[in-house]
Amino acid sequence: MTALLLAALMMTLIVGLRYLAVSGAFALITRRVRPGLYAGLDPQIRREITWSLLSAAIYGVPAGLMAWSWQTLGWTRIYTDIDAYPLWWLPLSVLAYLFAHDSWFYWTHRLMHRPRWFRIAHAVHHDSRPPTAWAAMSFHPVEALTGAVVIPSLVFIIPIHVSMLGVVLGIMTLMGVTNHMGWEIFPRALVHGPAGRWLITASHHQRHHEQYRCNYGLYFRVWDRLCGTDQGLGDLDASARARAERRAAGRGGKPGHA
Ligand SMILES: [Zn+2]
Ligand SMILES: [Zn+2]
Repeated sequence: MTALLLAALMMTLIVGLRYLAVSGAFALITRRVRPGLYAGLDPQIRREITWSLLSAAIYGVPAGLMAWSWQTLGWTRIYTDIDAYPLWWLPLSVLAYLFAHDSWFYWTHRLMHRPRWFRIAHAVHHDSRPPTAWAAMSFHPVEALTGAVVIPSLVFIIPIHVSMLGVVLGIMTLMGVTNHMGWEIFPRALVHGPAGRWLITASHHQRHHEQYRCNYGLYFRVWDRLCGTDQGLGDLDASARARAERRAAGRGGKPGHA
């Protein structure tokens, strides 16, 4: 029991520090490459960090349970011997995890856009208008729980080499941050090319934050396309310009500052 508690605590620390390091790094890069993009968003960023750290604690519990089951009981399907499965399974297992996670996310996300569930679980995430690099884990505890159980459940079902599990967690972290960052870090050829028709990056997810009832996916546009909820890519630069103009007009409109 003590070992289980310790594992949960360790995982909470790891998830929390990983969040601070990665979101912090991308927030710094944003300051360099898009100066002023987060201007006026300080109160929102403080909320994003608070909710995200609370989410880290919630993510830590099932993650700790997963680590403990793997190390102490040997119950999971995480393997360390690279030859235990054919080599082609390495990349395929990553795809399988990402697709399973994406499917779970798409359907729970759509459910959370029903008015009742939205108020309870999802309004917190949409409080970010527009989201920043700090919004990666800005979830209400109920939403955090729906996200936290996915990977720790999959390791009991789908075999995965420990290094590929690291790749999955890396992609999950990177996309969580970059999709909310407000600018596109990936090359135009990828975002607007054939791959971008199926992969989700910031231009796709930002439109979800602007229009709410479309673009529900996490990594892939498959479910959005199949279900007719894909509204295509948003124009991040146009959104940023419109915000800057609104801010300038707002400042100019104040008495004494005209
Ligand atoms: Zn989002
Ligand atoms: Zn949403």
